[in-house]
Order: sequence, then C-alpha cells, then structure tokens
Amino acid sequence: MPEHHLSEEVLMAYAAGSLPEALSLVVASHATLCPSCRADVEAYEALGGSLIEDIDPAALPEATLSDIFARLDADEAGGASEPWGSTHTPARRDFENSSIPRPLRDYLDQDLAALAWRPVIRGVEEAEIKLAGAGVRTRLMRIKAGVAMPRHTHAGEEVTLVLEGGYSDAEGHFARGDVQIADPSVDHQPVADEGEACICLVVSDAPLKLTGPIGRLLNPFISY
Ligand SMILES: [Zn+2]
Repeated sequence: MPEHHLSEEVLMAYAAGSLPEALSLVVASHATLCPSCRADVEAYEALGGSLIEDIDPAALPEATLSDIFARLDADEAGGASEPWGSTHTPARRDFENSSIPRPLRDYLDQDLAALAWRPVIRGVEEAEIKLAGAGVRTRLMRIKAGVAMPRHTHAGEEVTLVLEGGYSDAEGHFARGDVQIADPSVDHQPVADEGEACICLVVSDAPLKLTGPIGRLLNPFISY
C-alpha cells in the first residue's frame, strides 16, 4: 500500500475527465497500485459528473465524501445523470498487480528493458513517452541503485510515480506506487535506494493546467 497519495481534488478531477492525458496516466497508474485511491475514484465515478460540477468549487476543499453523498440523495429525485468520464474509467483489468501498471503498459507496448533508454547523467537514464498535449513532458526515469540525482528545482511542476525500487529526499521515502508532486519552490535531491534500480514515471515541465472548476483545485498530494 503506497504511503504518498493523490489529493481528493485530483482524484475527483480524474473521475470527471478534467485532467490532461499525462496526469490521467499517473492517476490511473497510481490507482492500479493503491486500493485506497482506487476506491475513491470509483466512488467519484459512481456519483456522476453533473453532481460534482454543481458544487461550489470554493467550498470543495471543505466538502467531504459524505457531504457529496448527502447531495446525491437530495438530487436523486431529479433522475439519473449521464454516465461520465467514460474515456478515463479504468477497466477492472487495469487493477492487476504487475510491475508495470496496466494503464502505462497500454502506452509502452513493450517491456521496460526494451525501451529506448538514453543516458542523462551517470547512473540515470530516461525514456520518453509520447502523449498528446503540448508542453507536457512524460518520461520514464531509471536511476541506478544508490545514485543521487543532481539537486534541482523545476521550471514547472513535476509529478513522479515510483514503479520499481524507491528513493528518498527531504520530503521522505518514496516506494512503488507512491506519488510526489513538486512545484518550482521544491529544491530536492532524490537518492535511489540501495539494492535495486529505481524506475519512475515522471510528468513535468509544464504548468499542470487543468480544466473546469474541479481542475483548478489541484493540491499537493495528501500523505497519510
Ligand atoms: Zn493512493
């Protein structure tokens, strides 16, 4: 079970289909590895989009799931709304436990070892993943066991999902399934765990521009 999760707002935005493709890939992949976030996504998807869109965005950070359920009960007399977020709804088969989360496998079409890895610095390699959406860079990074990344900040925001191995930085330890969101104020120097290469899915270099009232509420990950 991952320890570093995505915020309720991000999961809602995902369920509402408001996230750019690259971020949807991160959320879907995390949900594959995280029963807790998966259950939340399924709950939001079951609620229906029109319902969530009706909620005043300013009030949302205070809103709990039970508030939303209460609202659902109140709206039930109005009839069922159209199913929503269908293009982002992960199929059941997406939640198999395998080294590469199913949503990511659909993009790679091959094993991690067969990807076109290119060296970045000694001990660090990357492989680009081509996704729709200008300005968003999506790649896999492979860091040799025990290697420290150069200290860095980000031009935009950077979302990292650990797929294999793990790393530590000033914010803590991140292992398979954990998500870290770093904005330009974060100056960090991840160090890969000993014993095993660390492979991460990284979306970066562009503001995480979201659409819709929910999308504007992207918050840092919730850790618990
Ligand atoms: Zn989670």
